[in-house]
This record gives sequence, C-alpha cells and structure tokens, in this order.
Amino acid sequence: MASIEFVKVTKSFDKHDVIKDLDLKIEDGKFTVLVGPSGCGKTTLLRMIAGIDPQTSGSVLINGKDVTRIAPGQRGVAMVFQNYAIYPTMSVRENIEFGLKNNKVGKEERTRLVESISATVGLNNYLDRKPSTLSGGQRQRVALARAMVKKPSVFLMDEPLSNLDAKLRAQMRIELIELHKKLGTTFVYVTHDQVEAMSMADTIVLMNQGLIQQEAPPDVIYRQPNNLFAAQFIGVPPMNVGELGTNGVKFGFRPESAVLSLTPADVHYCTRGVIATREMLGSETLYQVKTGSHSFMIKCIEDRFNVDQEVYLGVEASKLFFFGADENRLQES
Ligand code: ATP
Repeated sequence: MASIEFVKVTKSFDKHDVIKDLDLKIEDGKFTVLVGPSGCGKTTLLRMIAGIDPQTSGSVLINGKDVTRIAPGQRGVAMVFQNYAIYPTMSVRENIEFGLKNNKVGKEERTRLVESISATVGLNNYLDRKPSTLSGGQRQRVALARAMVKKPSVFLMDEPLSNLDAKLRAQMRIELIELHKKLGTTFVYVTHDQVEAMSMADTIVLMNQGLIQQEAPPDVIYRQPNNLFAAQFIGVPPMNVGELGTNGVKFGFRPESAVLSLTPADVHYCTRGVIATREMLGSETLYQVKTGSHSFMIKCIEDRFNVDQEVYLGVEASKLFFFGADENRLQES
C-alpha cells in the first residue's frame, strides 16, 4: 500500500501551465477519484504519479519518498486505461501472465497467480479465450487482472469504464468497489463523470482548469460545496442557481430541495412560476419551472402537475446556499 503526495507541483506544456503549484495528499489504501471537466488536468496528474510524463517543477512523493528520479516500472504503480491495452492475439491467460513471464517468474508460480487473480475478477472460465470473443466488461477485467499480477501498491485508472454501456458501467462500478475492498490497495481513479465519482470514491478531488476546487468525501461535497463550481458539477441535475439582485450574491438549491404546490408555502423562499416541461423519470418527475426571472429544475416524487400549470415553488431556509461575488460559498449557508 502507498500514500501519494504532490508538493508545489507545476506541469507546463509549451510554457503553458496546465497544473500550477498543486499540493495534494492521497491517502494510503483509499479509493480517490479525480474528477472534473475535460482538459482540467486529471490525466496529467495520473501520468505524473506513474512517471510517464514527469512534472515541470515540484515533487511527487510515494510513501514519503520523492520519486522524481525513479523510473515508471520501479514505482510500484500499475495503470489501467480506457482502451484496455490488452493483446488481441493472446489468450486471456497469456495476457495476464505476460508481465510475469517478462519478470522471469517460474511456470508453477505463474499458474498459481493467474488462477488466483482470474478468480478474483471472475475470469477463471475464460482463460483460454481470445479477447475478441469477450464482452466489453470481461475485457476490462482482463486489463484489471494484468495490472493486478504486478502486485502494485497503487492502481491508477484512467476512465476505465468509458467504453462500456450504461448498464455494464453500473455493474463494473460495484465490482471495482468490491475489488478495492478485497485488495485494500490505494486506487486513484480519473473520470469526468460525477456519478462515478459520487458512487465509488472515499475521497473526491474535484478539479477545474488545473486547480483543486474541493477535496472531500462525496457527501461532504454534495452537502457543503466550497464554491459555485463544486455546487454545480456534483449532482444531477445540477444545483439551481439564481441572482439575488445587484449585490453579486447568488443563491442555490438542489432540484430535490424545492416543493411545488398550488398555494403559497410558508417557507423562506417562495415564488410563483409556470411548469414549462415535465419529464417522467420512473420513480420521480422532473419539472422545469419558469419564474419571472429564472428557470429552475425541480425533482418531485409525485407526478401531479401539467405543462403550463401555475404553481408555487418553495424552498426552506436550511436548503438554500449562498455564494459571494467571488463564487465561494458564504459560510452561513
Ligand atoms: P479529459 O477528461 O478530456 O481526458 P483531462 O482532465 O484528463 O481531460 P489532461 O489530459 O490532463 O486533461 O490535459 C490537461 C491540459 O493539458 C489540456 O488542456 C491538454 O490540452 C493539455 N495537454 C495534455 N497533454 C499535452 C501535451 N502532450 N502537449 C500539450 N498539451 C497537453
């Protein structure tokens, strides 16, 4: 197992800083998810940990040791990519034992390791198959198994589920959480998908434009976002945000925090509006409510309003967030 630390790390491409003066501690044994919009620098961080693309300045420490001069293969990390990086002409067994053969591990030990690891990821019945005959999820498991045979102290995963369909992705999320529990190894997982981040992470590191916006467990980011960016990136649909006059302060509330009614509700914020759209999601209904100055998305358990119907939209004081002109959340909210 291993902890990872970035100390004042800057990474520049063509004199342009994509990561600037970044400090970050990734805890030993935790499932840490780096999340943020495309181009914010997530993959760049992962590649610096792996040593594939070193930092321009600052230090990267693994288990307290500066690894700047340590080659990628010697860092005890294994990387799993979205395109799997498995060999199409080799069987599943050959793919998994490839790294072991390279490291001159004997045949008996290789067989033992391949069997124990393929059992862990549920591939023991597929060892003689070629990757082309496997499903996307099974191929992803081969990629995981290939990383696992190296017994790394850190798993680095770059959008490993992005090639899978929605159902399989949901299943693999659960499998990865279970795998992490079983192995107890440090996982650093990159995604732009906030649902993946929310469902898998012990700690989310939320990034934007090369800067960390917030580093916290999923429920903390959801309940106490540091700023407007965090408030709107985490949560589907995103937090509703409105202007509070001319003083620069904005208010926000989650789509599930508002109550729609036919008569005014006795709550802190209450306004009149009209249902503009109605979307049945199954157990919930999503309404778009247009008020004089805003358009809000509201998630309701009951499906009792129609398009064009006039409603009152109310939010209790405890469910409101406020953001200053600098977009940071005001502490009393
Ligand atoms: P995505 O979710 O799209 O993969 P990301 O958050 O992983 O995005 P990075 O791949 O880390 O983003 O890229 C961060 C920034 O660095 C981007 O603006 C990208 O264009 C730039 N960048 C990355 N690699 C290089 C490179 N080799 N040369 C020049 N610029 C690069």
